[in-house]
Amino acid sequence: MSLRVEAVPCLQDNYLWLLRDNPTGAVAICDPGEAAPAIAAVEGAGGRLDAILLTHHHGDHVDGVEELKARFPGARVIGGAPDLHRLPPLDEAVKEGDTVSLGAARAEVMHLPGHTTGHIAFHFVADHVLLCGDVIFALGCGRPLEPGGMEALWQSLRRVARLPPSTRLCCGHEYTESNARFALSVDPDNQALRAEAEAAGALRAAGRPTVPTTLAQELAANPFLRARDLAEFTARREAKNHFR
Ligand code: ZN
Ligand code: FE
Repeated sequence: MSLRVEAVPCLQDNYLWLLRDNPTGAVAICDPGEAAPAIAAVEGAGGRLDAILLTHHHGDHVDGVEELKARFPGARVIGGAPDLHRLPPLDEAVKEGDTVSLGAARAEVMHLPGHTTGHIAFHFVADHVLLCGDVIFALGCGRPLEPGGMEALWQSLRRVARLPPSTRLCCGHEYTESNARFALSVDPDNQALRAEAEAAGALRAAGRPTVPTTLAQELAANPFLRARDLAEFTARREAKNHFR
């Protein structure tokens, strides 16, 4: 694997992602909700920025784009064609099945609607990396916010579930501890879940991110991936909204 990924905390509980293709030194930032941490991360990686990848249009994922692009004008801003009207100005509008290059690394674009209708993910197939924004989190998943979202999100999670289990899921938020509390209320006897919840607590106590998680971990512990059908998924997703 030649693609390095690093979670960079920003805003309240967001992560933007720093990606570096080691053979070529090409660097990308995914979902800069805030410019300053993105700029610092790029400077720390050598001061070169090739691409800015956007999973969806929400402010906590795009509000840093303008300033980041102004600082690194050569960076290509890449986002989903269906959301052209509500994303920052794009240099490349992409859709399901398109390929995005970062140096020698290649990402396949997946359209994964549900949280928003235009949500996309970048799947670096050879590197087993999925930049998944707000589709799936460690022990949780995004909230369906637009019409048809519940069923669309369920179908999107089905697609994620079929990727190689070693896939690293690079999620947009640090929600793991609160997700773990809900997950344990649904599935209290799941040993993999108990272990992941404990590991998350230790990582957070040490001030470290709990992500990326792996698909294998989530298949074993995530109550939304483990739902048997749309009805069970819907019930869990709705219960989570009211869980304290
Ligand atoms: Zn979002
Ligand atoms: Fe978000």
